[in-house]
Order: sequence, then structure tokens, then C-alpha cells
Amino acid sequence: MLFRQLFDEATWTYSYLLAESEGGKALLIDPVREKVPQYQQLVSELELQLVYAIDTHVHADHITALGKLRELYQCETTFGDQAPVQCASRRVKDGEIIALGHLQLKAIYTPGHTDDSYCFLLTSEKPQMLFTGDTLLIRGTGRTDFQQGDARQQYDSLFNKLLKLPADTLVYPGHDYKGMTVSTIGEEKRFNPRLQVNSAEEYCRIMDNLNLPNPKLMDVAVPANLGCGL
Ligand code: FE
Repeated sequence: MLFRQLFDEATWTYSYLLAESEGGKALLIDPVREKVPQYQQLVSELELQLVYAIDTHVHADHITALGKLRELYQCETTFGDQAPVQCASRRVKDGEIIALGHLQLKAIYTPGHTDDSYCFLLTSEKPQMLFTGDTLLIRGTGRTDFQQGDARQQYDSLFNKLLKLPADTLVYPGHDYKGMTVSTIGEEKRFNPRLQVNSAEEYCRIMDNLNLPNPKLMDVAVPANLGCGL
């Protein structure tokens, strides 16, 4: 398999390029509009055919590249079923598989950070690779205080879905602010401070008292992203 973890240093966003192999069909998860030239270069150098561009949710902190990538490659702009966007050419439901040759990427509905948040599990690799968007971060979790976020739903998504995956499942988050690139479900269970709680109530108490400022780009990014960043 071909796998690249790409970083947007302006917004601390990770994007992920997956393909069967060089010269094969590819997909991008959470691509950033400012990075389109870099994606174009990689796609052409590795002779890839970009067929899917996927957003884990409507982002508030960066502008998505989905629209630009569709213009360039006619790829499917892919969102979860609940995303409040007009520009999706493919929507996935909980449990649905996106196939790319022998690669199988399973959509998992994980509301909480937003009501349209999905994680994507690459089940065809061992260990499995989980792309968590902003649901589960390395030693953190995504905020739940805007875009129909809900701490109780996030608790449910984390504890009843993601943390039930095998301990060796690799965790690739949508952001990292400290230079971490990958973790595992087992490691997060043990060391993620937000997950050391005994009840949903305790989790909600933590999340409801974070008092974070709004993301710098929020007023620009959310409306732009509802139209795939175009
Ligand atoms: Fe987000």
C-alpha cells in the first residue's frame, strides 16, 4: 500500500493520501485547499489517479480542498450522510465501505465533535488504520462546543465505537498541536487524559469546561466548506 501523512503547518491539519500502489487509484482524507499544489505534484509524481476526496466532517479551522480537487480530477467529493453540504457527490452511511482496489475503508459514524463527524477505518491492513478526524486526537479529543457538537454523543462514539477496536489499531488524527503523528487505540485508552473517566457525566463535565476561543478561521471556513471550499 502507498500511504502518506501530509501536514498543513498553518492550521496543524493532517491529511492522508492512500493508494493501492504507485500508479494506482488514490484517495485523500481531509485535504487542505492551500496544499492543492503539493497534492498535484504528488499525484503526478506517483502517477496516481485520485478518485475520492473525503472530509471527515465540515471543518471550522481550515478550508477544504474537495471542490478544487474535483475540478482538477473529477474525483468524488465524499462526506458522511449527515453533512449539511450541497456539494457532496458521494455520501456514506455508518458501516459503508469505500473500496479502492483491494483497500477497504469503512465509514464509522462518530457524532460529538460535530453532528456530521465520521471516522474511517482501513480494515484491509493489519494492523488496521483509523483516521479519526477530530473525534479522537492523540492524548486529546475534539472540542464539542459548536457545529452541533455534543459531549455525550462524543463519549458514546469514543467509548462504544472507537475504543472497542483492537488495541493495536493505529490512530491517525485530523490535527496535532504537539508534533505527534500516530498513536494506537491501546495507547490512547491508557494515556489519553480525556479518556480516564468513569462515566459520560464526568466526560461531559470536562468538555463543558474547556472554555476555548473560537478557531481563527471559523467565520470564513464553515461557510466556505459548506460549498466544498469553492
Ligand atoms: Fe473539526
